[in-house]
Amino acid sequence: MTAFLAGQGERPFRAKQLYAWLYGKGENDFAAMTDIPAASRARLAETARADGLFLAESLSSADGSTTKYLFGTDDGHYIETVFMKYKDRNSVCISAQVGCRMGCKFCASGKLGLKRNLTPAELALEVILTERAAGALAKNIVLMGIGEPLDNFGAVKKFIENITDDHGRDLSRRAITLSTCGLVPGIRRLAEELPQVNLAVSLHAPNDKLRGEIMPVTGRYGVAAVVAATQRHYETTHRRSTFEYTLIDGFNDSPAQARELAALLRGMNCLVNLIPLNGAEADRRGSGAETAQRFRDILGERGVPATIRRSLGSDIEAACGQLRLRYES
Ligand code: SAH
Repeated sequence: MTAFLAGQGERPFRAKQLYAWLYGKGENDFAAMTDIPAASRARLAETARADGLFLAESLSSADGSTTKYLFGTDDGHYIETVFMKYKDRNSVCISAQVGCRMGCKFCASGKLGLKRNLTPAELALEVILTERAAGALAKNIVLMGIGEPLDNFGAVKKFIENITDDHGRDLSRRAITLSTCGLVPGIRRLAEELPQVNLAVSLHAPNDKLRGEIMPVTGRYGVAAVVAATQRHYETTHRRSTFEYTLIDGFNDSPAQARELAALLRGMNCLVNLIPLNGAEADRRGSGAETAQRFRDILGERGVPATIRRSLGSDIEAACGQLRLRYES
């Protein structure tokens, strides 16, 4: 940014000012940046852009805790961002790609394949524009929306560097969690290049045979390799990872499967987050609350801590690309 502004004859402090407006105050209209001289603002408006997403629709859950924002992109695509208000821990869940090429069977995000990666600016705008619309700041950012963040590593890294920079938003890297379907080389890169960022791994099954039925990526990286990569991530970063496990009735929720999962993760410093299945099939295929509790207890008895995820916003299709799908198709 300093180099770009130098090309317009601006001094270096102008970049800091602009950065503070964009990332610190979440202002994406140059005209509103009142401590920058009018001539400079006019030049910026002609040579730069900070408005790459527009808000197309928003939906709030009945209890007001969760709002889903549908953003349109310049090239006619749609992505979703979800803002969750929870006591003093607001969090924003952002999309990493337009669509996804991982093809998980239960997930709406991949139904139309991958359209393209999001840019670092679009990733930042997801945070900035939802915070503004919600009238509140997020304490945590989770990369758990549409897309596979480790399949867009370069842009995700740049975004994290920008949003955590102390000239702007100054968010802590420890407040960011990245969720992956288990791209092993990406997990290694994450540990090496962004060691403060938290890792969540979508496991959903305790063995390759079962996991392969719902997650094609298992053919590339098996359960053992994913678990080993997660363990290495812990050894490098000393941050406790989460394994996400969506309970599907009669598929992966039996006591025997809970025991198999406990044996797989035994001794790791990790947390299992049991997720109720949501979406169109949830009524038919989601496990009941009792099954979820039994599954959690079996893990706990074997020394593997597990929680059942509070599900917010299911009444507004807030999960997993369901709203976007309606627009995009
Ligand atoms: N690609 C990344 C992040 C996006 S998905 C990943 O795979 O982790 C975020 C989480 O939502 C993942 O754990 C994913 O498996 C889960 N998910 C997707 N569809 C779901 C559904 N219908 N019900 C419950 N969880 C779902």
